[in-house]
Amino acid sequence: MKKTLIELKNVSFQYEYTQVLKNISLKVEEGDFLALLGQNGSGKSTLLKLILGLLKPMSGEIHLFGEQASQFNHREWIGYVSQKSNAFNSGFPATVEEVVKSGLTKKAGLFKRLPKDADVLVRRALADVGMEQYAKRNIGQLSGGQQQRVFIARALVAQPKLLILDEPTVGIDHENVQAFYDMLAHLNAHHNMTLILVTHDVDTVSDRVSHVACLNQTIHFHGFKNDFDTISEEQRASWYGHSVRKIH
Ligand code: ADP
Repeated sequence: MKKTLIELKNVSFQYEYTQVLKNISLKVEEGDFLALLGQNGSGKSTLLKLILGLLKPMSGEIHLFGEQASQFNHREWIGYVSQKSNAFNSGFPATVEEVVKSGLTKKAGLFKRLPKDADVLVRRALADVGMEQYAKRNIGQLSGGQQQRVFIARALVAQPKLLILDEPTVGIDHENVQAFYDMLAHLNAHHNMTLILVTHDVDTVSDRVSHVACLNQTIHFHGFKNDFDTISEEQRASWYGHSVRKIH
């Protein structure tokens, strides 16, 4: 049986006056590639913050790798790449390998030494995202898509078991988005990386994901991508708004 990495049971959350999430139940198993869909304001970032332990639910339960979230002490198993990562200007004084290596400091702790094989780990993470040849380049001189790959390598170097990506293709030009999703599919298929991808870009990602969840305060659909494909466009639009396009 596959391991359950994330499980939410009847989770609700509200900010001071705004109810954002209502009775969310969701399961992510090892090897899943889940697309989390929803229009702006539907609660996607809030849901990620709950999973990352940055917020606590008002009610319901969150289990991470089979443990209560409050007892879970392997945060390094969950990597996170935010949409704003790739915003370095051309003068930023760090090389690609330095940026990736900084992903090891979280694992090593602030004052501990980096592992002896840090350089090997950095090279391997860069190879995983197809950026090995850029190791010595300045991060600010890369395109948005290349920078985003470097940030994925920075998350991968800590060897997470699950990677969460919050709209990672924002700022990446259209031609490179396909290659970017191919790279994610490769990580999922060949490196056994479980992925949660928050996206509006359903058309492009559709052939790569295994599961889809539609969020709009509650979860309107969660299941296999193939089952999602059989649902009418009208029905989907009523769930998650018109800003999310159809999966072909
Ligand atoms: P999404 O990521 O889908 O755009 P969010 O989780 O960011 O949605 O926001 C969901 C709702 O919660 C929105 O109505 C937003 O205005 C509100 N919200 C988000 N963060 C805060 C906050 N820190 N304080 C109060 N309301 C917030």
